Amino acid sequence: MDVVNEGDYILLYLDGRRSFLVEATDRVFHTHRGYLKLKELIGQPYGSQVKSSIGVEFTLLKPALRDFILKKFRRPTQIVYPKDAGLILTYTGIGPGFRIAEAGVGSGALTAFLAYYVRPTGRVYGYEIRSDLIKIAKRNLSQTGLMDYIELKLKDVREGFDERDLDAVVLDLPTPWEVIPKAYDALKNSGVFVSFSPTINQVEKTVETARAYGFVSIEAVECLERHFKVKAGETRPETVMIGHTGYLVFARKSLKST
Ligand code: SAH
Repeated sequence: MDVVNEGDYILLYLDGRRSFLVEATDRVFHTHRGYLKLKELIGQPYGSQVKSSIGVEFTLLKPALRDFILKKFRRPTQIVYPKDAGLILTYTGIGPGFRIAEAGVGSGALTAFLAYYVRPTGRVYGYEIRSDLIKIAKRNLSQTGLMDYIELKLKDVREGFDERDLDAVVLDLPTPWEVIPKAYDALKNSGVFVSFSPTINQVEKTVETARAYGFVSIEAVECLERHFKVKAGETRPETVMIGHTGYLVFARKSLKST
């Protein structure tokens, strides 16, 4: 049976709205539903219930990467949300062994998703123009244990990428069209280009530039995610949803322009 070990991160699940990511160490964790001595969780099976000081039950769950990103990461920038990361991963086939350049790293959310899926043989080269953000991203990513698959670089990618023959280039920065020639040089033939942008004007410029540069199979996509309140006979969408995150542009490098 899988039990909690000292130092494990655990998702303390209360209900659909409330769960907490805690570390099994010698600390007391206070919630509005009483406190828990975290050391007492060590040795308990995952999936089991524990009671707080006032008798409220929490379930011990193993956290997913999404929990680390949404609950633990410091987020001085907007991040790429799981719905958009999911589309990036599935549309491109990013998987074990992929070598990817990513810019900008920002808070490191997308870096974490990419690194998680290129393991154990792939690598993410994360470029960021701001040194303060590199520091924060590094601290965030260290908690996930994924730093072995990531190289963070302080550099303006408009000057180009250091790598060649990359499987993918993934951008989340204000002027992606300025980076397209550099992405083209860094990618292997047929390699994947992805760009995430919050405004449609950025999408238009990015697609037009990608077209002019000899990229093919260009797609512009928006992903909407709706959560549901499920109760027999009353199931319906939640009233509030995240209405907007951004748009994705996908493209493949062809040899047309060379
Ligand atoms: N995808 C990230 C968020 C990126 S926010 C996440 O999920 O956490 C956009 C980032 O791009 C910012 O941190 C900004 O500093 C960086 N940036 C902007 N222009 C850049 C450039 N030319 N080269 C490298 N990084 C750049």
